[in-house]
Amino acid sequence: MKEYDVVVVGGGPAGGQVSRSLAKRGVNVLLVEKYNSFALNNFSSAGMTLEPMDEFNLSESVVGAYWKDLVIQCTKDIYTCESTNKKGVVLNFQKLREFLAEETKKFDGNVLMGHKYIGKTIKEDCVLVSLLAYDKSREVQIKTKLVVDATGPLRKVMYNANEQQPEMILGSGTEYEIKVSQEIYDNYKDKLLFFLGHKWAIKGTPGFSQWRTES
Ligand SMILES: Cc1cc2nc3c(=O)[nH]c(=O)nc-3n(C[C@H](O)[C@H](O)[C@H](O)COP(=O)(O)OP(=O)(O)OC[C@H]3O[C@@H](n4cnc5c(N)ncnc54)[C@H](O)[C@@H]3O)c2cc1C
Repeated sequence: MKEYDVVVVGGGPAGGQVSRSLAKRGVNVLLVEKYNSFALNNFSSAGMTLEPMDEFNLSESVVGAYWKDLVIQCTKDIYTCESTNKKGVVLNFQKLREFLAEETKKFDGNVLMGHKYIGKTIKEDCVLVSLLAYDKSREVQIKTKLVVDATGPLRKVMYNANEQQPEMILGSGTEYEIKVSQEIYDNYKDKLLFFLGHKWAIKGTPGFSQWRTES
């Protein structure tokens, strides 16, 4: 049975960064991701300012695009903040996940793709973690001192299946991937746009109505 100091379950931005930092500090860490490839859960991107690129020492390879203008498009009004310089990036989440996993390996950490966490047994001096290969061909047991739950909102490690979880505050949004003409693309390619209001989210969302009442 393989043994690690820390097993991080979930290769998202949180899990990838935790395992990368631990590996860099010389901790014997294993990062486990249920999918075989980060291309399979490439559902999201993230607009942010430039500062976190330095703060987290991120490579340029994780940048999907740079933005310089900030535009907030409400149902009726539009607010624009224009700049001549780059102000931020939109991350490519697939590249970000890949980069963090690669960095974990670069610092002598370990990455196990295509293995799904299915349960744990807590012993007096260790935790036994059970993993199932994505194609269900084999089950693996791993011994560790610490398990980190980085499975996102699923919280698979902290809570057993069917166990009552504390309620989370939920917001909702809509993500569209749209194909546009070159002319439209050129017009918007360096703008970070937020669409707010009932024109875009019909009748709003719980998050929006709460925001409206408070402000
Ligand atoms: C459709 C959608 C669009 C989004 N758009 C944006 C956006 O535009 N900008 C933005 O900032 N945020 C966006 N988000 C939110 C963003 O994706 C999350 O905040 C971020 O991914 C959270 O990171 P995380 O590492 O905590 O969890 P996750 O990214 O959810 O990562 C969890 C990882 O754990 C793995 N996993 C789960 N269960 C197991 C298991 N049993 N065993 C092993 N591995 C497991 C998953 O495959 C995944 O890789 C979006 C989310 C969604 C769902």
